[in-house]
Amino acid sequence: MGQTLTIALSKGRILEDTLPLLASAGIEPAEDPDASRRLVLPTNRAEVQLVIVRATDVPTYVAHGGADLGVAGKDTLLEHGGAGLYEPLDLGIARCRLMVAGYPGTTERLRRPRVATKFVNISRRYFAEQGRQAELIKLYGSMELAPIVGLADLIVDLVDTGNTLRANGLEPLATIAPISARLVVNRAAMKMKHRLIEPVTRALGEAVNERDRSTVE
Ligand code: AMP
Repeated sequence: MGQTLTIALSKGRILEDTLPLLASAGIEPAEDPDASRRLVLPTNRAEVQLVIVRATDVPTYVAHGGADLGVAGKDTLLEHGGAGLYEPLDLGIARCRLMVAGYPGTTERLRRPRVATKFVNISRRYFAEQGRQAELIKLYGSMELAPIVGLADLIVDLVDTGNTLRANGLEPLATIAPISARLVVNRAAMKMKHRLIEPVTRALGEAVNERDRSTVE
């Protein structure tokens, strides 16, 4: 039997922005992933299938070989740690920034801030690199609420327009990292399925370059 290629994607922004790039690379789902409840979607190419997983699970699926390729935000990859993964391509989609935010002026005043975030690993590293102590409070959503109700002094969250922060009386205080979605590849599959993976990676790279050229013009 021939080899198959499994690509892990998550619904929402990443799926929306990745499908046109995959289409340029000659891969199209056989049915609309947004309308479908199926978690495994065949494509127009018999040897390629898509699997739909939670965004934070994409690195886990790919690292353990449950998928050969995946698309994940750099935030998710930094939080996961990236063991077992190659990251050959910045797809330049789902762009935003990972930021520290709080009430104006908060960062400078506090010696040991309480920081609410779903990115506890990234935040721990960030404050440790600055030689600052922080008490990390893990949340799964609505981080902006934490300073309002006194649960935390600061938050670490993704910021795009800044509207969510502003609407809650918070402001960005520092950027931890610029974020965009990346193509990730299982390290073993990169060798064992090179014949299948290399053309897809190359075609996606060309699609990204083509898109960027046409947006500059
Ligand atoms: P904004 O109000 O435009 O700054 O967007 C901030 C909200 O959208 C936060 O709740 C973020 O978690 C979420 N967000 C913004 N950009 C992204 C992204 N690229 N990927 C995932 N979530 C995002």
